[in-house]
Amino acid sequence: MISCDGHRPRGRLLGFDTFSFCYWMRLDQDKEYVGFATLPNQVHRKSVKKGFDFTLMVAGESGLGKSTLVNSLFLTDLYKDRKLLNAEERITQTVEITKHTVDIEEKGVKLKLTIVDTPGFGDAVNNTECWKSVADYIDQQFEQYFRDESGLNRKNIQDNRVHCCLYFISPFGHGLRPLDVEFMRALHEKVNIVPILAKADTLTPSEVKKKKMKIREEIEQYSIKIYQFPDCDSDEDDEFKQQDQELKESIPFAVIGSNTVVEAKGKRVRGRLYPWGIVEVENSAHCDFVKLRNMLVRTHMQDLKDVTRETHYENYRAQCIQSMTRMVVKERNRNKLTRESGTDFPIPVAPGVTDNETEKLIRQKDEELRRMQEMLQKIQEQMHGQKEY
Ligand code: GDP
Repeated sequence: MISCDGHRPRGRLLGFDTFSFCYWMRLDQDKEYVGFATLPNQVHRKSVKKGFDFTLMVAGESGLGKSTLVNSLFLTDLYKDRKLLNAEERITQTVEITKHTVDIEEKGVKLKLTIVDTPGFGDAVNNTECWKSVADYIDQQFEQYFRDESGLNRKNIQDNRVHCCLYFISPFGHGLRPLDVEFMRALHEKVNIVPILAKADTLTPSEVKKKKMKIREEIEQYSIKIYQFPDCDSDEDDEFKQQDQELKESIPFAVIGSNTVVEAKGKRVRGRLYPWGIVEVENSAHCDFVKLRNMLVRTHMQDLKDVTRETHYENYRAQCIQSMTRMVVKERNRNKLTRESGTDFPIPVAPGVTDNETEKLIRQKDEELRRMQEMLQKIQEQMHGQKEY
């Protein structure tokens, strides 16, 4: 047998004829590809054209440096119109949710960044359940998405789901306060929580180390499920693996924020000027700001979005479908019983409610039920369609 390159092939060519063997050899040598290697480029081009969005929530007591840090992270002034309240106003203030959106562009890539702030959190004299309005806000965004997804115009859905929550912990306490534990436990199934040790420049390096350790222990002790960085693939290089390990060990990120640029060693840097020296925001020897920014923007933004979609939103959706199914079944049974007995079931009405109001209530309930049935049917159709596909 004569081989295509003049050499004898080693061993027998099982089932190959000489022609096809030579053909494939040539294909390999000439690098003649079908073309699907451009798929990543196609995806890249399409995503860049569409732009990206990311919703970041900041929570924690007021005065811990949340707005300063957000401005430092994204080099914008997102809090131009913020009105600071005095002590008296803060006592009576309830937790408010505010939203700021900016469009940022870098090397042609557009990012629509939404910052959700929670002014008033932890400011009242009695802070029992002050996490509730934050949890409600997150649920409302899931609900809106769920409705849009089950509706007709599914192509242009505005996604307002919260992808990450930076939770600020005071540097002045001994680890977590009861309010911190309560907040994180109430929200850990709804959003990716990334704990932050605020104003790290008020602590010495050994204090930072001790506080971080204590906070990590308490997170474990109270079974708080913070955002888990995905495991590094075994084929990654050693440098990447080391960076990944360092990132995991940095939790909670000890950060410093500043809105001013100062001069340090002949260079203009973002920092805080004290009589005894300068703390530089972007100096890794001073704080974890760069690590946090890299994690949020460069390395884990997509994973935060994926976990939001695949875990938190899916949990919400499953619960919703379950309770809707239960309601529909209950209503069907009720209708069946009514038909069988030939009488209307008495609907429990609060004292003082007139017949007209009762009728209105029944109509509203019927309408709500009809909408739920419709939505459920659409979801079932979608699930059926996905299975067939
Ligand atoms: P927020 O209420 O949590 O948004 O806090 P602000 O960002 O308004 O900051 C409250 C005060 O803390 C301001 O006077 C800031 O200049 C100061 N501040 C912000 N970040 C830091 C920091 O990292 N270290 C120190 N020492 N002070 C900070």
